[in-house]
Amino acid sequence: MRVSGFEVLVVPMRLRSPVGSAGLVQRDRSAVLVRLETDQGVGWGECPAYPGARWPDPSPDALEPVAVDRVLGRLRAASADAVLPPADLVTAACRGPAARPEQEVADQSVAAAVEMAVLDVELRVGGQSLASWLGTARREVETGALVGIPADREIGRLLDEAAAAIETGARRLRVKIEPGWSRAPLEALRARFGEVALQADANGSFDPAHPDVFDELDDLGLVCLEQPFAPAELDAHRRLGQRLRTPIALDESLWSPGRVEAALAARACQVACLKPGRLGGVLAAVAAARACAVAQVPCFVGGFFESGLGRAVNAAVAGRPECSLPGDLSDPDTYLEGNPFSYLECAGGLVRLASAPGIGAEPRPEVLETVTRRRWVSWQP
Ligand SMILES: [Mg+2]
Repeated sequence: MRVSGFEVLVVPMRLRSPVGSAGLVQRDRSAVLVRLETDQGVGWGECPAYPGARWPDPSPDALEPVAVDRVLGRLRAASADAVLPPADLVTAACRGPAARPEQEVADQSVAAAVEMAVLDVELRVGGQSLASWLGTARREVETGALVGIPADREIGRLLDEAAAAIETGARRLRVKIEPGWSRAPLEALRARFGEVALQADANGSFDPAHPDVFDELDDLGLVCLEQPFAPAELDAHRRLGQRLRTPIALDESLWSPGRVEAALAARACQVACLKPGRLGGVLAAVAAARACAVAQVPCFVGGFFESGLGRAVNAAVAGRPECSLPGDLSDPDTYLEGNPFSYLECAGGLVRLASAPGIGAEPRPEVLETVTRRRWVSWQP
């Protein structure tokens, strides 16, 4: 595949409703897209990024232009005569020498988008869908819903939001918690919705010096308690896992394939939230899912409120047999104003995986016209 250039597009997107998580209310997203032009066709990729992102995740400003230039420079060096490496070697070609951890994650995110774009072209040329290429046996995957911290911590509003999600068929509720907002919302949801699968996600907001605050959540039958402590705290998570019956899930702690291995080896992780964009692409995510299966750790594919592009790719990964828990795979049109890509067919909490060649999403030119910044990176010297 001979490349002529990349276009980098930054697409601001508004969430239909604000989403509260520990210490943060999200209102906006910003898709950082790469559009690859080759002699065999055009491919698209998406970096997960959001304004106000916290460690380990990059903000759009951190990605573009520095990380993009760094990653494309490495890819150029690995592409003699403008012939790109095949998709399964792209992430390795984009990964540079060991850098600061925040640089590593930004580079992995851009590498994931480049891998996605190369795969998109390869699969269209080869007439294969991403799900088939990944060896996904399922035709449909289950999706769950995320319930944020409501404004003013109103329980009534939380219950209304959860009821709407269950009405659409969500297979589990992932509920944001923070210090001072944990037992009450979960107890109210359990009381109202009975046996619904409930996960609590703390986004690293609790203090590892006080693990006892979680004792009062241990009788609520949670599927898991996600990322109670800061991303670096593997040992505190391991100890909390020994204290509670509720399995401890890690999300932000799993910022690279190496960190997944480290967390599993440390027995810090009893459930894994895997995000292909953060980990460096679909192949890195599948490898992480396999490592989790070997360690008998259930996993699911987590979301960043992607556009239809990134989310279609996540859905294909979620079709792997190792991903045994419902993922964050709901339709982006339900949470984004101005989603620049089509998504998959969703009904009753199930997402039907794409069978057409390519990675499973098509651009919506009329939405992409709203792009505020475009930058062409020519491949010519
Ligand atoms: Mg999380």
